[in-house]
Amino acid sequence: MPFDPKSLVALPVRDIAPYVPGKPIEELEREYGISGSIKLASNENPFGPGPLARAAIANAAAQIGFYPDGNGYALKRALAAKHSCALDCITLGNGSNDVLVMLAEAFLTQSTEAVYSQYAFAVYPIAVQATGATARVAKALSETDAMPLGHDLSAMAALVSERTRLVFVANPNNPTGTFVREGSLRDFISSLPKTTLIVVDEAYIEYADDPEFPDASRWLDEFSNLVVTRTFSKAYGLAGLRVGYALSHPVIADALNRVRQAFNVNTIALGAAEAALKDQEHVTRSVAANREALAYIRAGLDKLGLRYFPTQGNFLLVDCARPALPIYDAMLRSGVIVRPVGGYGLPNHLRITLGTPAQNQRMLAALEQALVLR
Ligand SMILES: *Cc1c(COP(=O)(O)O)cnc(C)c1O
Repeated sequence: MPFDPKSLVALPVRDIAPYVPGKPIEELEREYGISGSIKLASNENPFGPGPLARAAIANAAAQIGFYPDGNGYALKRALAAKHSCALDCITLGNGSNDVLVMLAEAFLTQSTEAVYSQYAFAVYPIAVQATGATARVAKALSETDAMPLGHDLSAMAALVSERTRLVFVANPNNPTGTFVREGSLRDFISSLPKTTLIVVDEAYIEYADDPEFPDASRWLDEFSNLVVTRTFSKAYGLAGLRVGYALSHPVIADALNRVRQAFNVNTIALGAAEAALKDQEHVTRSVAANREALAYIRAGLDKLGLRYFPTQGNFLLVDCARPALPIYDAMLRSGVIVRPVGGYGLPNHLRITLGTPAQNQRMLAALEQALVLR
């Protein structure tokens, strides 16, 4: 028998379904020989970073002959001020994805378990599986629930045992856009055993506007088992630089620091993120534009007779009521990249990032055209 290198791959890793990113513009244009395409597939801020971050990027670039500050002191200081917490509560990551992986590495083993919801962010299963821990996936709320396909916190609580080390709650969740309310999240956290860490992933919190949408970062002093993750990839417009962070009890941060790569956040990312924090106007403008985009796209989808889900993020989950891949393909041909979510078990759905007014108009036109082809 010829030697099969796959036999060497660690068993838990062998079965991981790799993360499928949104299609890059360059790839689409290379494959289809087109130009001028737009990407509404990865929930980036369509305006990119603000002017302060752009200037900081140019300044930081002059320093890239040196290793970055491995402790990220200046950025942590700015974050500590923002969140009124101590520096040792903060863990910086190469994107919040990095922090999620560190949490799994530091707290999961083959004999422990992690809990998350059906349709939850795709990074959780990957991070959990790589450790050999057992994933317990709670059934989501039904399509007809007031929060359709959202996290069912009761179902999640029912899966927690003394072996559960991590529970992930994406608030709002990607790809569904759904959220859990302040009261229910607090009750859920209070109900967890102290041996279970609860990770509240607030990647889109800047966009959330429901009066009952919670900011779990305010509860860190109350719950020593609470971890809140945030990112600069979405509203701050720095997805390409990869910066995110976790807020937690210092003992949890210390554990994460032990598995953290020495220089996991690069010089340019550190400088840009610190400057981006000072530019709340850019965030405010971006959030206001997102709100207008949402109203515009909802109206367009209503006209097309398509159902969409409630969202607290900068994206919409749309039910095409038939297989979404051919629609996705037809839109690609018009140079509009959206995100099919069949990998989440939603084969009829597309996740569409809210873009600039011109992008949204073009997206709706491409979608309309794709729906009449068939
Ligand atoms: C985009 C996203 C993140 C952020 O990823 P980064 O690694 O910080 O770019 C985290 N959680 C969810 C739910 C997301 O959609």
